[in-house]
Amino acid sequence: MFDPQHWAGMPFHFWSVVFFVLGAMIGSFLNVCIHRLPREESLVSPGSHCPHCGTPIPWYRNLPLVSWLALRGRCANCAGPISPRYFLVELLTALLFLGCWLAFGVQSWALALVYCVLLAGLVVATFIDFEHFIIPDAITLGGVGVGFVGSFLVPALHRTDAPTVALQRCFLGAGFGAGVIYAVLRLGKWLLGKQRLQLAPGSRVIFTEAALVLPDHEIPYGELFYRPADAIQLDAAQVELVDRCYWNVPVRLTQTTLRIGEEEFPTESVPGFEAVTDRIVVPREAMGLGDVKFMAAIGAFLGWTGVLFTLFASALLGSVVGVTLIALHRQERSRPIPYGPYIAVAATIWIFAGDRLLKWWLGV
Ligand SMILES: [Zn+2]
Repeated sequence: MFDPQHWAGMPFHFWSVVFFVLGAMIGSFLNVCIHRLPREESLVSPGSHCPHCGTPIPWYRNLPLVSWLALRGRCANCAGPISPRYFLVELLTALLFLGCWLAFGVQSWALALVYCVLLAGLVVATFIDFEHFIIPDAITLGGVGVGFVGSFLVPALHRTDAPTVALQRCFLGAGFGAGVIYAVLRLGKWLLGKQRLQLAPGSRVIFTEAALVLPDHEIPYGELFYRPADAIQLDAAQVELVDRCYWNVPVRLTQTTLRIGEEEFPTESVPGFEAVTDRIVVPREAMGLGDVKFMAAIGAFLGWTGVLFTLFASALLGSVVGVTLIALHRQERSRPIPYGPYIAVAATIWIFAGDRLLKWWLGV
């Protein structure tokens, strides 16, 4: 049983099944991460429970893929709907793990496993970013750490036999990944990060609890605030709160705080206010610091060539999808789309087809 010789003798596709099942089980755990990480809840306790009735879900009703299908996406206790995302993530992870085994298993089982770890991280990052517009540090910075350990243990990840060489390439990849996205971020901020809205002199703008009301239109805060650093800024000739007034002060509003001159208030304590101004600056940016750390993690696993490919392929994917959505009127031009999922998809393409694409490119 514990003789490696015995296991090595198992047919190749026995391991294909093992990787698929392992992927489904890991996918089940990734679902927990996707739900709980952005809410800063513990990953281990409490155990799985129905989001509607709170009934704990026993292990035999929590089997990856099988349970969701058998219960037709409903809770066994209250019949409340369980999101198809649970099934989708389990299936996707199972297929990605199987793909890793089929693509890299012949070369080395360890290499296949390292790629599985990276892909699991990409799945979590994609689904969280899609819903919450953030990628938690546990995934990005944690990913950099795991990338270093993985590079040391499996140097083949960086196409070498020497762990020290692999570590150098890992270090270079992480640094290059962070640097290149940071540069793009700064450039983007400079080019289109902020939108200045010119208003008629003496215009009155109203900040309600849900939206910024300009003289000619209204922008819900949901379209302006994505990250903690996002801020609406203006120099006001006059600001009126419920109980006080200010003259000639700078005003800065973020999701959490309102700053008027030198004074700061938590936004919950201010139901709304009005300001008189002729110019207002609202946030608009394509990428955040989360993407910088995310690309550092990808660089730690895939090296600088992987970063370069991921950067260009994700930009291409992003513009194709963006233009298509605008053409279909499914997306407003001003509303940013999270960028993390494009990075994740591009990195996945590199993992499975990078070598072939590189050869094809150099051949041309
Ligand atoms: Zn229930």
